[in-house]
Amino acid sequence: MGLRITVLGCGTSMGVPQIGCRCAVCTSSDPRNHRTRPAIHLATPQARVVIDAPPELRLQLIQTGLDDHLDALLITHTHADHIMGLDDVRGFTLRTRTPMPVYAESSALDDLKRVFRYVFFPYPPGVSIPQIQFLELPNPLQIGDMRIEPLRVFHGEMPVLAFRVGNFAYVTDVSYIPPETFERLQGLDLLILDALRREPHPTHFNLEQALAVAQSLQPKHTLFTHLTHDLEYSQTNAELPEGMELAYDGQVVEIPYEVSELQSV
Ligand SMILES: [Zn+2]
Ligand SMILES: [Zn+2]
Ligand SMILES: [Zn+2]
Repeated sequence: MGLRITVLGCGTSMGVPQIGCRCAVCTSSDPRNHRTRPAIHLATPQARVVIDAPPELRLQLIQTGLDDHLDALLITHTHADHIMGLDDVRGFTLRTRTPMPVYAESSALDDLKRVFRYVFFPYPPGVSIPQIQFLELPNPLQIGDMRIEPLRVFHGEMPVLAFRVGNFAYVTDVSYIPPETFERLQGLDLLILDALRREPHPTHFNLEQALAVAQSLQPKHTLFTHLTHDLEYSQTNAELPEGMELAYDGQVVEIPYEVSELQSV
């Protein structure tokens, strides 16, 4: 087993179908047009990590069969579509009786501690709250044989994190990639990149911008994520160049992962 990447969700903040919408994508019978909020699961022989905690986290983990064990959770930024499922780690911590490490940068930790303030309250025995250990993300973060490198990208004005693990990178919620991060995104086997919709947006790459970034970086394989109902799965993929496609919920991609090289850091 190399590095196995599972797309838990590839939808935008409103999800697809969107409430009240009867468009062709929202009413599509193709399950690849149904998108929960964005997160991914990463697995190596020694580590299992989830990036972001969307509102559907529980369902995503159960539907993919990835609900038996989790070593840590990483947060890219604290918009609701990336954190509102954090309480679901209770499903793990009630069984393990060990706090779940949740890694984020310090500004995001302040938000998380405010939103999930009840986690720190004393409760009588028998009341189940998630046990969470909020931790500032080191660079790099090593979990088992998994070495995770946080990278800076911008989501409008907001600094957010992207992550590189081996020759894989996850870059969601992005409208600008600084040159030093662009450099660290070279030589990828798989890139998962924000490509919100066709129309431009102030805080996300649209499909055209994402395509230009992918064409410049030349990863072996690119999946686009954080998708609205604007992008029909098969139709859009038919327009995309070889090696680039829209992601779908539950999609699994495995790439080679050189443990020895990474442990030397
Ligand atoms: Zn988002
Ligand atoms: Zn729609
Ligand atoms: Zn966001």
